Amino acid sequence: MSKKSRILIYIIFVVLIFIGFLVFFIIKNQIGTDNNAASENKKLQVATTLFPLYDFAKNIGQDKADVFLILPPGVEPHSFDPKPGDLIFINNADIFIYTGKFMEPWAEDILGSIKNENLLVVDASGGINLISLVAEGQSENTTPIDPHIWLDFDNDKTIVDSIATAFAEKDPKNKSFYEKNAKEYKMKLAELDEKYASSLSYCKSKKIIYAGHYAFGYLAKRYGLEYIAAQGISPDAEPTINDLINLVNQIESSNIKYVFYEELASPKIAEMLSKETGAKLLFLNPAANISKEQLESGATFISIMESNLKNLKIGLEYNKEYNQ
Ligand SMILES: [Zn+2]
Repeated sequence: MSKKSRILIYIIFVVLIFIGFLVFFIIKNQIGTDNNAASENKKLQVATTLFPLYDFAKNIGQDKADVFLILPPGVEPHSFDPKPGDLIFINNADIFIYTGKFMEPWAEDILGSIKNENLLVVDASGGINLISLVAEGQSENTTPIDPHIWLDFDNDKTIVDSIATAFAEKDPKNKSFYEKNAKEYKMKLAELDEKYASSLSYCKSKKIIYAGHYAFGYLAKRYGLEYIAAQGISPDAEPTINDLINLVNQIESSNIKYVFYEELASPKIAEMLSKETGAKLLFLNPAANISKEQLESGATFISIMESNLKNLKIGLEYNKEYNQ
């Protein structure tokens, strides 16, 4: 190789290294800019399991959070299994909010399997006094825990606070924004609670006969009502013939005029009870999940609970003269 060729190769080599460095720095700079833009404008990514948690999180986060409801509309929550897409979302989320291990045993399995060190997990049952389903002849510590904690407005206030605390932890610069939204939402819950307490005190009947699963234990306890459900805390177990005979007897002996039913579980039980006793049927929504139509029409946890109160007033025979 001539001396001239060696110099040429050397020059080409140096130029290539220079171009290489130039390209490296341009790309590095570009990625850096994108990352900064993303972290400045990025909304909190929040995964929630049930509708009430989804609605609370949306009210607290508003335009600063993307809130995702894992449970698809219309799906019965007790028999739900998450899809791979849900796991991908949770893997990339900032916050995961679930009702607790008694409502979503699957959530604990997911949390054990995903590798997202950034994830802040909110167990909504934290700080809440859980009650058990106590049937006749059973003691409280041998009976299952009732997981329907959102059907007590005081519990909801505790959940709202837990969510606001998590949002503030992940996004400290907007802490006061989340706190203000939580405070406003808790005021709405307090108003609804007062409406329930006052309306139900004017009702002649104090007994809710529910043709669905044992979902309204917290609500009944809060307002001093008796609650009798056809099924246990999960709607997967069908009632026995004896359970049904017992319900028919309760309806007849207490002169119950209305039986409540739920949409997602078994309407057959409600229809049978109505046919057998002549009691009319009224819808009472446990609010764990809502239909696609309801979601699209903008239904909220508060609007669902307002509809429930309307039907409770009819079913329990609200009358101003019955004030107690
Ligand atoms: Zn339930």
